[in-house]
Amino acid sequence: MSLLDGLNSRQREAAETIDGPLLILAGAGSGKTRTIIHRIAHIIETGQAWPSQILAITFTNKAAGEMRDRIAKMNIQDSKRIWMSTFHAMCARIMRTHAQWLGYDDNFVIYDMDDQKRLYKSLIKELGLNDKYFTNQFLSGEVSTAKNNFVSPEAYMKENSGDFRKEKVGLYYKRYQESLKANNAMDFDDLIYNTLVLFKGFPEILEQYQNRFKYIMVDEYQDTNHSQYELVNMLAAKYKNICVCGDDDQSIYGWRGADINNILDFEKDYANAKVVKLEENYRSTQTILDCANGVIARNTGRKEKALWTNNDGDEKIMIASFNQGYDEARFIVDEINDNITKGQGIFGDFAILYRTNAQSRLFEEALMRAGLPFQLIGGTGFYSRVEIKDVIAYLNVLSNPKDNMGFMRIVNVPKRGIGSATIEKIAEYANFKSFSLMQAFHHVEEIPELSPSVKNKVRAFSELMKKLEVIQATASLSELITAVIEKTGYLEMLETGKMDKGESRLENLQELVSSATDFEKNSDDQSLSAYLETVALSSETDKYDGDQGKVLLMTLHNAKGLEFPIVFIPGLEEGIFPHGRAMDSPEDIEEERRICYVGITRAMKRLYISWAAERTLYGRRQLQTPSRFLKEMPDEVCVENKQRYERKPEIDIETKKNKTFSERVTQSKVAIRRNNANAVNLQNNPSESGFVLTDKVKHKKFGIGTVVEVKNNMISVAFPGVGIKKMDPTFVEKE
Ligand code: ATP
Ligand code: MG
Repeated sequence: MSLLDGLNSRQREAAETIDGPLLILAGAGSGKTRTIIHRIAHIIETGQAWPSQILAITFTNKAAGEMRDRIAKMNIQDSKRIWMSTFHAMCARIMRTHAQWLGYDDNFVIYDMDDQKRLYKSLIKELGLNDKYFTNQFLSGEVSTAKNNFVSPEAYMKENSGDFRKEKVGLYYKRYQESLKANNAMDFDDLIYNTLVLFKGFPEILEQYQNRFKYIMVDEYQDTNHSQYELVNMLAAKYKNICVCGDDDQSIYGWRGADINNILDFEKDYANAKVVKLEENYRSTQTILDCANGVIARNTGRKEKALWTNNDGDEKIMIASFNQGYDEARFIVDEINDNITKGQGIFGDFAILYRTNAQSRLFEEALMRAGLPFQLIGGTGFYSRVEIKDVIAYLNVLSNPKDNMGFMRIVNVPKRGIGSATIEKIAEYANFKSFSLMQAFHHVEEIPELSPSVKNKVRAFSELMKKLEVIQATASLSELITAVIEKTGYLEMLETGKMDKGESRLENLQELVSSATDFEKNSDDQSLSAYLETVALSSETDKYDGDQGKVLLMTLHNAKGLEFPIVFIPGLEEGIFPHGRAMDSPEDIEEERRICYVGITRAMKRLYISWAAERTLYGRRQLQTPSRFLKEMPDEVCVENKQRYERKPEIDIETKKNKTFSERVTQSKVAIRRNNANAVNLQNNPSESGFVLTDKVKHKKFGIGTVVEVKNNMISVAFPGVGIKKMDPTFVEKE
């Protein structure tokens, strides 16, 4: 049997076109990913390249893992040697070998959002910037955009000279990069940015990689940003054997700098590019495709595509509406139960896909109440838990003693009486000596201003870390983690109830030890830095295992590239989906529509779409109007579900009973227009107040809340459990 047997003729043509640039431009579920996998197998089996000469880039670790599994099942020799990973993992690997060329040590650590925030706090102080005006969200967004566009701090400052605010941003950006380097740390964007710096600065290193990768493939190419685009082109410059595939209709990362033109312009970039279009969809029913096609057809400036399928099934899309968001959740859970009772699927066949993480709570609660097994992807993931991050920070400092942010996290956790005044004094000394904080601690005897009792505490911590270094030299990973948990006093802190939720935190730490044991078993490189890299790069999506037999809950963004027999998309309401922030820009609405298209096309057999007329949002009750996307779904493929969940609305809303769906939608059109007009009125220019509706903010006294109104330079914020407070924007900080 040939490796290409499982492909249709066009897919096969793509898989057999090995040399030269190739673009596979095709709609959802048409077998792009499958074609890439078979293409790789074909290249190796026909002896055109060694596995190590192939580079395949995908968007999530999950997708990369899946590709690896599928290739492994095809019994391709040495398939482990194929470079199959995300952009970030690929660049981390390159950096591990070449970071010294840029002045980093090769044991650099990768900073996440949390570390970034700590760095932000210290820099904002150092630069004397107003943190109400220069919020973390604003500054890190600017820095990230600059890096995604390969704009250096110097170039940024030059570009923006004369613009007072941006000049400050430039200064911040410069200091931010310097501090990262001093900590021997890179953030996520740096992995890609620095790889580009390396390749541009040292052509001989680029050449090594160009020679190595004879064949390059990129899946989900529509979501590459400028830096990623440049990186791919540089690597492919020698052989020009580059195959990219994607779907312009599924470009949903514009907010992260992805540029849809990268795929649309491929034929311009490579004049002799061959283009293969796939139109047969193997995933969904025709009804589901008609629904998706109907919605996406409203977007302008797209490449026309007609998706069709031979798949059986003509079940209509169920559109369900409810009085309350709570009823919607109940309905979904009942429906899952019904389906299962009737033998139509197992738990793992169902996915609930929503627009924002905040929507998951209602479903989690309803599923829990009903006792159904479910798995939540995203949200506060395993590696973002406090106890896990603490222990990882210990490991980071052991691996890279220059990591001051990690150091700050652990120096007084568990409490050892080392306060901020002490740390400030030691930091001054560290600055003076060009030491890291850890090094300065090891030199505590030389610091004159410290009292003997403080010195004792500092010395104890220094000795603890030295002891762990000794253990690290010989112990396995899991032994080292166990030693950290025990010797630092962390275990005792949890056992003696000095930290809340001690028992479950302990369980999580046990889980961390077992995951390290797995890592030891499965990984070629068992070094501490390899482990820390894997942890830093693993996102929650990676832990999704389709075979687990649990209902899946995730955002539409996380569902990209995946498929499920039965899909629910709840919350089709103006302000939720499309998202409130997208309301006043036609381009943003088009991106929302693409997200909707991605969602619909995840479904294989059955699709439910729903909305509620009223829900508690951001701590207050709100009347909702159905999403404009509902009206874009062709009537003939949808059926409306009778409202089975009627609870008396607690506030006076127009009853929607006894109206047909289309009547209701017509009525909603007016409401949507009214709502949009309101939204425009309410949303001041963000540059004046600095806030827009739905922004999350933090107030010293009331905690975290959501902006529900922006008017006359004042904002109203809904704080859960407190109520709505109107205030001057300077009283809050962006979350
Ligand atoms: P997306 O745009 O969502 O990423 P895709 O174009 O990458 O989708 P795949 O995930 O590769 O599509 O394929 C969709 C489904 O169709 C998969 O289950 C795949 O195995 C199946 N499939 C694709 N091509 C064929 C084929 N020729 N014969 C049988 N099944 C196929
Ligand atoms: Mg795919």
